[in-house]
Amino acid sequence: MRLGALEAGGTKMVCAIGDELGNLYERESFPTLTPDETMPNLIHFFEGKDIEALGIGSFGPLSLDPKAEDYGNITTTPKLPWRDYPLRKAFVDALHIPVGIDTDVNAAALGEATYGAGKGLDSLVYYTIGTGVGGGALVDGHLVHGLLHPEMGHMLLRPVANDPTPHGFCPYHDGCLEGMANGPAIEKRWGVSAKLLPVDHVAWDVEAEYLAQMCVNTIVMLSPKRIVLGGGVMHQTQLFAKVRKLTQELLNGYVAHESLLNNIDDYIVPPGLGDNAGAVGSLLLAKQALQ
Ligand code: ADP
Ligand code: ZN
Repeated sequence: MRLGALEAGGTKMVCAIGDELGNLYERESFPTLTPDETMPNLIHFFEGKDIEALGIGSFGPLSLDPKAEDYGNITTTPKLPWRDYPLRKAFVDALHIPVGIDTDVNAAALGEATYGAGKGLDSLVYYTIGTGVGGGALVDGHLVHGLLHPEMGHMLLRPVANDPTPHGFCPYHDGCLEGMANGPAIEKRWGVSAKLLPVDHVAWDVEAEYLAQMCVNTIVMLSPKRIVLGGGVMHQTQLFAKVRKLTQELLNGYVAHESLLNNIDDYIVPPGLGDNAGAVGSLLLAKQALQ
């Protein structure tokens, strides 16, 4: 079946056409300006493409209770032109097809658990460590929502000893994951773009400590069968070995499962779909919306 996917991000909107098997046929990207400027481009892209349904993986916060009046709206985002914007409804009204929506990271978790690094697993957590930090969770085959949806990027961490900026940079929280560990935090902490820091810089030891705390919190809260770490910062592949080792040290043998004790290289892993996790997951949200 032909399906549409929209990855709605704070800097760009990626539109794609594909199918329920995760194949992507075409894609086009548009800058995220205001809804008035951006939405006509997105609707124009999907019109005439003969798609049966559309899936959206979006930045948030989002209203995700299908029974709520504001279902599918972007809510309290700091990106002011998009505050309270009825994203899902705009596509339903324009395209007259079923439209599924979830957070960008839940979409990526679904993509990775279906066709990526967690193929076939019913339990997986996906994190992106990029401009922001966010996590999506699949538990018992279902994406986790709840009151709104998890905001794992704002879990509180404890500062590590060799961090010169132990409070982090989140405008809302002292010492939260995103404020400690996103790309901009690395740059502010060390005064150098994350991309330009040498691989043996202490920055990566500090970063790995925070990402290991994140993994430990995730393991003890949700007990996922795999953790996938994506996003621009994880292009620093030396982080994986450090995060795995520190996660084991912090857990201290308490969660006594083979995957953690002896197979952690297969437990904390990069995305199998690379940069396509969100797009493939959005196609699967489209398929779910049809059912
Ligand atoms: P976004 O989160 O905006 O969707 P990315 O996942 O690419 O996009 O994240 C961008 C962030 O990742 C920037 O803050 C940048 O500094 C950081 N980043 C991108 N590439 C690298 C790299 N190779 N090494 C370290 N940091 C990187
Ligand atoms: Zn925060």
